Amino acid sequence: MRTVYVNGHYLPESEATVSIFDRGFLMSDGVYEVTSVLDGKLIDFPGHTARLHRSLAEMDMAAPCSDDDLLAIHRELVMRNAIHDGLVYLQVTRGNPGDRDFAFPPADTPPTLVLFTQSKPGITQSPLAKTGMKVISIEDARWGRRDIKTVQLLYPSMGKMMAKKAGCDDAWMVEDGHVTEGTSNNAYIVVGNRIITRHLGNAILSGITRTAVLRFAREAQMEVEERPFTIAEAQAADEAFITSATMFVMPVVQIDGVAVGTGQPGSVVARLREIYLDESRRAAI
Ligand code: PMP
Repeated sequence: MRTVYVNGHYLPESEATVSIFDRGFLMSDGVYEVTSVLDGKLIDFPGHTARLHRSLAEMDMAAPCSDDDLLAIHRELVMRNAIHDGLVYLQVTRGNPGDRDFAFPPADTPPTLVLFTQSKPGITQSPLAKTGMKVISIEDARWGRRDIKTVQLLYPSMGKMMAKKAGCDDAWMVEDGHVTEGTSNNAYIVVGNRIITRHLGNAILSGITRTAVLRFAREAQMEVEERPFTIAEAQAADEAFITSATMFVMPVVQIDGVAVGTGQPGSVVARLREIYLDESRRAAI
């Protein structure tokens, strides 16, 4: 049985509880982070902590504890659950005001802090990296502040089910004719030596993997263009891919039934994936 963390306590998962009045449960009033673990080490922990602080600030929420404490909890959970490859999930909510009310509770209401691990042996060897992913396009019907990593994940969850129903792996969301991102990842196309991905703003989450991959791409003398692109442009691209903390860099070989490039994972994406995994492992803590 897993050991999880709830508000200062390490507990067996069956004994971990949160109030029915918790704002996270009643209002999706919370933010989260997912940090990958490779070889028992955390991938880009400072990046995830920085984004957590940004999400908290945008939601007018205080940090539940210091970054040193957060790091210690992550490491303790990885150790106690003997995670070699997998992830640590962290969620902070606006806590339990003791009743239901739309207005935020007093600022001194203690936040709820929950962390747990998921073991994913061989996570870097996913068969999808060899075959590539198939995606469908769907309307982006999420709220307008996708730059905040909130736990209101109903629409992305529905999008994932729409993809599954269509025999595909994921959905790319489209707003005003342009791709925003995948249900739980950032979306890219490759044209020649150029990598194109939507610019940052309220429309997408600033992926920690996105930041790293764009940096590695520039260092490897690839061109990076941060701008919106259409599904038609993606279908006509040489290669396509997604990035996320748990998928790393993953090729996309089909969009709405149309093969991208050769219909097989391409060399640019394979190279980016290799660089990302190598560099991330090297910098892991
Ligand atoms: N966009 C969305 C909507 C996501 O949910 C995620 C994953 N949490 C990402 C992008 C990728 O972010 P990261 O690389 O930090 O995992």
